[in-house]
Amino acid sequence: MQNTPAQRPTWAEINLANLVFNFKSVKTFVGAEVHYMAVVKADGYGHGAVECARALEKENVDWFGVAIPEEGLQLRQAGILRPILCLGGFWEYQQNLIVENDLTTAICRLENAESLNNAAMSQNRTAKVHVKVDTGMGRIGVRFDEIAAFAEQLKFFSHLKVQGLMTHFAAADNLAENEFTNEQIRRFAQAVEIFEKKGFQLIYKDLANSPGAIAHKNARGNMVRLGGVLYGLGGDVLPKEIKKPELKPVMSVFSQVTLLKKVPKGESLGYSRTFTTKRDSLIATIPIGYHDGYPRLLSNRAQVIINGKKAPVVGRISMDWTIVDVTEIADVKIGDCVVLIGEQNGQTITAEELARKTDTISYEITCGINSRVVRRYAASE
Ligand SMILES: *Cc1c(COP(=O)(O)O)cnc(C)c1O
Repeated sequence: MQNTPAQRPTWAEINLANLVFNFKSVKTFVGAEVHYMAVVKADGYGHGAVECARALEKENVDWFGVAIPEEGLQLRQAGILRPILCLGGFWEYQQNLIVENDLTTAICRLENAESLNNAAMSQNRTAKVHVKVDTGMGRIGVRFDEIAAFAEQLKFFSHLKVQGLMTHFAAADNLAENEFTNEQIRRFAQAVEIFEKKGFQLIYKDLANSPGAIAHKNARGNMVRLGGVLYGLGGDVLPKEIKKPELKPVMSVFSQVTLLKKVPKGESLGYSRTFTTKRDSLIATIPIGYHDGYPRLLSNRAQVIINGKKAPVVGRISMDWTIVDVTEIADVKIGDCVVLIGEQNGQTITAEELARKTDTISYEITCGINSRVVRRYAASE
């Protein structure tokens, strides 16, 4: 894709057609009988929340999920109309932001319920909430064994509408933990029963993230909350052993060769002199570094693709620059495209692969691509 003038030639290409492909692919796999929430927190896992939400809204996704109210506000300001759930709830001083922007929030503390109820009352509205049940994640949520008391208290808030109950899996990506995942499902079912017995009419009962939705048929409830699979990042969060929908990567990261130099055998390159040329070499300098989200842990480990061929990163990745040994790349020139994540002439480098090399998951790789790396969107038609 053409770089626009006056910008450093380091960019992330976001293929919205692949995002839509993944959504349809998962929907075919999971079935049309459940609701679909597209999770676009953390700027759409680095892919751009607004652009991704617009593309998925056109495909009639039912809900959007964000981590914090500010992210919900960003979507509303961009004109997104579908319901938005703040998965992590809100802080005491954000209740007006929730009510005024018609955001829905997860809730797990009575103090929050009270301040939201007051804000809704003073604006003559009803605030919609989803109760988050902690069935084993141990993070946010009302503990499953305290849910009855919580439900009892919630009844007193006249300006809150409890729309749903939700929980989150700790290890749905690991089939060896099926026992635990099934225990979470049982605890959630009990929480639902308690709420319904107390007279709450729950519209949504949802448990599943990407691995939950794909790997655990009994975990789909009536809504699935999908992040990773929409961005094509199934490779390391879906169990290897199972049948799964076809997914295509959405983010590629590109740069260009900025400098080429001949370096004789036996010279060291980069900070701390971690690499020494073993032959007369041709070395290319690439304008991307760890500030951009190209992890320093990839030093002397990653490869990039230039002219359809892989070339190794040599020496330490620095804040703004990376050096690559291009001795074996034919006809390399200044300005040649460098693929850091993506595909060229049948050669591929995935976010999952970079994640393996840095002992993390692909989500952290795509989330980590800093805003200094401009996003270019390939249209979804
Ligand atoms: C992030 C998140 C999801 C999405 O998880 P993926 O593994 O990316 O599908 C779902 N639910 C909650 C509560 C989340 O925080």
